[in-house]
Amino acid sequence: MSRFRCLPIDLAVAERFRASGHDDAGNPLRRMTADHPSPCRVCLRDAAVGEPVLLGSYNLPRPRGIYWTPSPIFVHATPCVPFDAADQVAPILRGRVISVRAYDAEDQCVYDLGFAGDGVEIDGPLARALDDPRTAFVNVHTAKPGCLLCRVERA
Ligand SMILES: [Zn+2]
Repeated sequence: MSRFRCLPIDLAVAERFRASGHDDAGNPLRRMTADHPSPCRVCLRDAAVGEPVLLGSYNLPRPRGIYWTPSPIFVHATPCVPFDAADQVAPILRGRVISVRAYDAEDQCVYDLGFAGDGVEIDGPLARALDDPRTAFVNVHTAKPGCLLCRVERA
């Protein structure tokens, strides 16, 4: 399998959320107490039930153009350590139903590399996408609500 990194959102975005109280669409952030394991897009771990989290809309940097989309995301309400590990599937990708979406260098979705299923089974589909020379990057989303979990790039 290609070497890879699961990438958190830009830390500046999380810091702006925490400091401004507004998301990328100008909505007031929802300040919540996690009532279910809530995937933080900075540390790429689930906030435990009872932890304070922020819910807001995030403008994905990629894909650009036709496939571009914003996404609801949770981040820990207080600073947390950004996920930074090579060749490790981020914890938030394992415990839920996910979709793997591969995109090429022109931000075109590579449909035949897509996968939807249980996150515990991500290794095979992720390797298939990253080993394909057409793939420039992969976004992993929750399969039911469709929220971005993280981007994955070759290391
Ligand atoms: Zn966090």
